[in-house]
Amino acid sequence: MIRHFESPPLYVQGPNLLARCGAYLGRVGARLTVIADAVVEGIVREPLERTAEEHDLDIIFLQFGGECERGEVERLAALCLGVDAVVGAGGGRAVDAAKLVGNRLGISVVSCPTLASTDAPVSRVAVLNRADGSVEEIRLLSRSPALVLVDSQVVAAAPPRYLVAGMGDALATWFEARACWHAGGRTLFGGPPTWAGLSLARQCWENLRRHAREALSQAQAGVVGEALETVIETNILLSGLGFENGGLALAHAIHNGLTQIPSTHEALHGEKVAFGLLVQCVAEEAEEVEEVLSLLLDLGLPVTLRELGLERSEEALVRVVEYVFERETNKLENEPVQLSPEGLMDALLRADALGRAARSRG
Ligand SMILES: [Zn+2]
Repeated sequence: MIRHFESPPLYVQGPNLLARCGAYLGRVGARLTVIADAVVEGIVREPLERTAEEHDLDIIFLQFGGECERGEVERLAALCLGVDAVVGAGGGRAVDAAKLVGNRLGISVVSCPTLASTDAPVSRVAVLNRADGSVEEIRLLSRSPALVLVDSQVVAAAPPRYLVAGMGDALATWFEARACWHAGGRTLFGGPPTWAGLSLARQCWENLRRHAREALSQAQAGVVGEALETVIETNILLSGLGFENGGLALAHAIHNGLTQIPSTHEALHGEKVAFGLLVQCVAEEAEEVEEVLSLLLDLGLPVTLRELGLERSEEALVRVVEYVFERETNKLENEPVQLSPEGLMDALLRADALGRAARSRG
């Protein structure tokens, strides 16, 4: 069995990084395009143009249409012909659009997330949507991003809900990698989890159980303190490397099932993953279930179906469970416990009951 570990060659994080990232950008190319929507452009344009000038880089801004879909990727790719690298600035969609453009043209990609809401910025995977926002394809690209730039001051200025969702995504990383390891499962790269991937995944859990609550207080106060820097690195770097090189399991499968129910569309990726983690802990009878539940409660992450926009309607729950079982990409073989559709439905309902009981205790 071939062991495979993959990562971006360079990750940089710090306050006011954008205004001083020219030397890092220069390592990937001298002519760059930046894909950003109007709001993000308002945040990143001035510091990026200033540092580009200081380092003799050509930088052009392209307005992102807002959806990472085929037509938009084609349009942006045509505008990026001849450049050395493409920068995706903003949330997951703009970053993924840049990844797909870079992959299409065979040029380097720079991820510049302005939120710490998922671990996608370091990942070699991109999500291609349809024009209506539903997922068309999850594509494994030919290379990881060449550079990841995270300005922690910019991330701290975003609404805290995004940071919290990123914590939900990163909380699941260790539990999923551990499951994949025990099940003898495979990572996205097709090999077994590596020790490196597992170690990084475990550090997500260690960091979040110690620092998540304080990081949230710092984000709410707009202070870029040590706890917040730790959690930003955890949400983006550790979780990204941990999931790619450690493997995914039931928490993300539940997330994928929930995306099939339109009433959950208001919930962010990491919010769905957080509830998926609770279900996974219940299904595995994990000893950490109470600790996970209390952390989710303290952070304000969803612990019940209702909080995800899903009433306990039989029809919707059956659809979630069916979807988890019908799609090979949900990687149920990465779970060490044998699951049946009835067993999974039972775990979903038990997780919801645990969450409701905890909420009513208050
Ligand atoms: Zn995720």
